[in-house]
Amino acid sequence: MQAKILDGRAVAERIRGDISTSAQQFTDENGYAPGLGVVLVGDDPASAMYVRMKRRACEKVGFISEAQILPADVTQEQVEAAVRNYNDDPKIHGILVQLPMPDHIDEEAVLREISLSKDVDGIHPVNIGKLGMRGREPSFTPATPTGCMVLLEETGEPIEGKQAVVIGRSNIVGLPVALMLTNANATVTICHSRTQDLQGYLKNADIVVAAVGRPEFIKGEWLKEGAIVIDVGSNSVDDPSSKKGYRYVGDVEFESASQVASYITKVPGGVGPMTITMLLQNTLKAAQESIKA
Ligand code: NAP
Repeated sequence: MQAKILDGRAVAERIRGDISTSAQQFTDENGYAPGLGVVLVGDDPASAMYVRMKRRACEKVGFISEAQILPADVTQEQVEAAVRNYNDDPKIHGILVQLPMPDHIDEEAVLREISLSKDVDGIHPVNIGKLGMRGREPSFTPATPTGCMVLLEETGEPIEGKQAVVIGRSNIVGLPVALMLTNANATVTICHSRTQDLQGYLKNADIVVAAVGRPEFIKGEWLKEGAIVIDVGSNSVDDPSSKKGYRYVGDVEFESASQVASYITKVPGGVGPMTITMLLQNTLKAAQESIKA
């Protein structure tokens, strides 16, 4: 079987087009644009790059975006005050706290400061808690897991009743995507570094979400014929043949997996473009909700 590619770039572009139209309408009606506020601590180049990408994406769809960039030796109180600043700012509808924070900062305490109505990254402990509880609706769901769910919907295949295996249990990807799959009525197994017989679980999985952070770790021969594979991994590997000397690969060995899966995402061009798009979508929703309040 040759897998169909789930093209995250194309899906993201389509959704961003819709967001752009709605943002223009919002701005025309209210006299100001939807706004995203980012809190960044320290000078980690990867975090700074993600913040720049988010700013550019905001500008492209007609949002305003602001960032408070704080030095690495900032105090806990200063970081929390930066979040509260945005909570109180009526032009900022969504707040993103760029993680990870330096070790001396209590991340959870910072996240707890985010107003639930502005938690567009869906990372506030209350929103994550609601995601895991029956009959509760979080205000927002986290960007990367939501992107995975949208790509799954793109296949047109039902999720309900399927066996899903999520590899990885991080707070930002593995755990929330497992909760979202459960809420979509899949039967979910979460695998992690202590899982015995990962391949045994994968053999029965109709849906596989890989969020491990190990290049090309999951092989095609471990998968069930016809599985839908969402590869969240984004790993840089040496590649002397490329201009930069490196390239990005996923957690799944694409060459072998695409011979077995029915649908598969590529890296780059799969989940990655969906992440910022889902953040934009949540920010638009927050702006729209704010005028109803
Ligand atoms: P993380 O916090 O490092 O979590 C990795 C998870 O993989 C952990 O739960 C770990 O288990 C599990 N794991 C490690 N080795 C394993 C093994 N041999 N077998 C089974 N499970 C194993 O990583 P993350 O933040 O979730 O990110 C995962 C990947 O997604 C990374 O490549 C990251 O760059 C990428 N990512 C991409 C996006 C995007 O927008 N495309 C967004 C976020 C992350 P334990 O819990 O037991 O340690």
